Amino acid sequence: MPYHPPEPFRIKTVEPIRLPSLAERKAAIQAAGYNVFALRAEDIFIDLLTDSGTGAMSQNQWAAMMLGDESYAGARSYQRLKTAVEDIFGFKHFFPTHQGRAAENILAAALVRPGNAIPSNMHFDTTDANIRARGGRPVNLVIDEASDPQNPHPFKGNLDIAKLKAFIEKTGPQNIPFGMMTLTNNAGGGQPASMENIRAVAETYHAFGIPFYIDAARYAENAYFIKLREPGYQQKTPLEIAREMFSLADGFCMSAKKDAIVNIGGLLGTNDDAVAERLRNELILREGFVSYGGLAGRDLDAMAVGLYEGLDENYLAYRLSQTAYVAARLKEIGAPMIEPPGGHAIYLDAGAILPHIPHGEFPGQALTVELYLEGGIRACEIGSVMFAHPDPDTGEMVYPRLELVRLAIPRRVYTQSHFDYLVQCIANILKRAESLRGYRLTYAPELLRHFTARFEPL
Ligand SMILES: *Cc1c(COP(=O)(O)O)cnc(C)c1O
Repeated sequence: MPYHPPEPFRIKTVEPIRLPSLAERKAAIQAAGYNVFALRAEDIFIDLLTDSGTGAMSQNQWAAMMLGDESYAGARSYQRLKTAVEDIFGFKHFFPTHQGRAAENILAAALVRPGNAIPSNMHFDTTDANIRARGGRPVNLVIDEASDPQNPHPFKGNLDIAKLKAFIEKTGPQNIPFGMMTLTNNAGGGQPASMENIRAVAETYHAFGIPFYIDAARYAENAYFIKLREPGYQQKTPLEIAREMFSLADGFCMSAKKDAIVNIGGLLGTNDDAVAERLRNELILREGFVSYGGLAGRDLDAMAVGLYEGLDENYLAYRLSQTAYVAARLKEIGAPMIEPPGGHAIYLDAGAILPHIPHGEFPGQALTVELYLEGGIRACEIGSVMFAHPDPDTGEMVYPRLELVRLAIPRRVYTQSHFDYLVQCIANILKRAESLRGYRLTYAPELLRHFTARFEPL
């Protein structure tokens, strides 16, 4: 078995978790309408719903919070964050925001006009929604390999340069106020993009006079994938690689709840003075003054420290190998999933695990419920519950190609034995997969139905 570096930390504070009895789990999931979003956290043993804001802060981050300066303007906390952001990202202007989507909202409000198009490898759903909310059109131009779960391409988050050129020529650069790239590609399974591709994307945008913004939520994981997989980067530190990535861009937006390992926070930056002026005005209107952007001073301090911890090489080696470890163990037991695994999550192929359950009876939902019943584990359905919709013309249901269940891995929270337990639970489910049944919706709102839908077993 390959070597997996152990946690580069030891545990000083513990948060108790408890596996409810099977009878309790059955009662809890039934009361939740068979939707894990409606479960109470206390009824969950291992929570893999998301890696966003669910990481564990370090002793240095907690200590930094005690130094938080709550001055309304020009706080010391802001100065410390500014020093870190300028060192890592290097943009001329930067603004804190309360989370990633707030940064996206401000960027879209400042730059997107009705009829504009914003290309990217793949937009995350909040970015997509913020562009649409301003009348813009988000466009995904990821390479074709990204949609094949078994394709071993090392950089499945790459943007297809030929598609990008053709798209810009067809749309007209004047209708594209900026172009983007999401690193790593969350909506595509947390897959990285190579430096070579990021550079080619930047050159393509710039050849047409289009500014390039990076959605940087998992930039440190992307940097470490480059170090591991791209020739020429083995001797560079993640910080050096990150600086090189951002030197190619004109600005960035970021959810700090991922690679800055804080529970709340976001960032926005640009090199353009005129754009910065608009961002500043919008920020003051929506978030708060420019030196705190919707956060407390202590939050800025936790972020300033967390940004460096997220780039630490020992941490990243542990982080990415934790995902690789879970994937390797799941492969041993024959669990179908998206390969190679991305940085922050494993995506089980529920359609392949439960081939007897048709799309309309929600195989991903069935697997998600079963994971909770089997082991008190909370995962996230990413399949027909989330994406199936009636065709606007024919009224016929359109189903996603893949029925996935995401196991997102919070940062520094669970140990290898938690994951061994997870793998054992999945092995038990695989043995009785044929006996699992699908689900029927009993309630579904019109938009984003996966959050509040209710089901009953068939
Ligand atoms: C989480 C995330 C966002 C949105 O950030 P929030 O902090 O949840 O508002 C945007 N883009 C990507 C790639 C993300 O993963």
